[in-house]
Amino acid sequence: MKLFAIFGNPVDHSRSPLMHNYTFEKLGIRHCYTRVLLESANVKETFLNLRLSGANITVPHKEEAFLQADEIRGIAKEIGAVNTLIYEDKKIIGYNTDAPGFMKAVEVFDFKSALILGAGGTAKAISAAFAKEGIDFAVLNRSAGRLDYFEKRGWKVYTWENFEPDSYKLIVNTTSAGLKDDSFPAPENILKKVFENAKYAVDAIYGKKTPFLKLAESLGLETKDGKDMLLYQGVLAFDYFTNHRYDIKTIEKFMRESFEL
Ligand code: NDP
Repeated sequence: MKLFAIFGNPVDHSRSPLMHNYTFEKLGIRHCYTRVLLESANVKETFLNLRLSGANITVPHKEEAFLQADEIRGIAKEIGAVNTLIYEDKKIIGYNTDAPGFMKAVEVFDFKSALILGAGGTAKAISAAFAKEGIDFAVLNRSAGRLDYFEKRGWKVYTWENFEPDSYKLIVNTTSAGLKDDSFPAPENILKKVFENAKYAVDAIYGKKTPFLKLAESLGLETKDGKDMLLYQGVLAFDYFTNHRYDIKTIEKFMRESFEL
């Protein structure tokens, strides 16, 4: 039996234990996935002390996990953040499945240009994925502070004050606006302007229809909340946890079922 965990602070709201344990059970695998409230930054020490075979990392430890992993693979190198750790040959390997998980969630949409609202960890992951896929994108954030990261990489950045709208097919909300309140991620006039030329709106927030998605829907856009992004980052992490032994579609089917529990 192998032990897996999610590290976060807070971590009690996380759906990952349910997603992974349900899928282990359905596949007849005797592994266990638990949650760890990590109040310090001791990602590596905690991982080793618990003798974990793998872990997922959530807010606020993704950057620290990146720094403490023995080796980083794939797109995590560009993002500077890790959400999946694997124990392999006595080394801790770090991956990022948020970025490919997001791309998988939006593969049903036909777009080559996008506007990302927000400039936090999720925006970094999505930007790296867009850059890799050749999507023409810009980042719009409430304040300038966090835009440095994007600007340094040569990506277009705006604050609400200096925003110059262009034509974007996909608008993505990666801010937490609308999560616990009914606010928009950007002023309503900016949203209405960018929705005029857009076809799709996606929110990273899941489990509720945010004012952002409601507005997009009322203007005729196709919309999607963050459930599929959550699902696919989990499917890809599970695939690493089980060393690519199971069919991806089967993992997806069981993880999707776990959302109904
Ligand atoms: P961060 O804290 O790293 O970034 C938050 C960003 O949102 C910042 O750019 C901040 O702007 C902006 N922001 C916060 N509140 C507001 C507001 N009221 N109006 C406008 N902008 C605001 O967060 P994360 O990137 O880690 O997460 C963002 C969201 O994505 C969360 O809601 C989270 O639940 C969701 N998420 C979903 C996932 C999924 O699998 N579906 C995975 C990961 C995250 P400023 O710089 O000005 O402070």
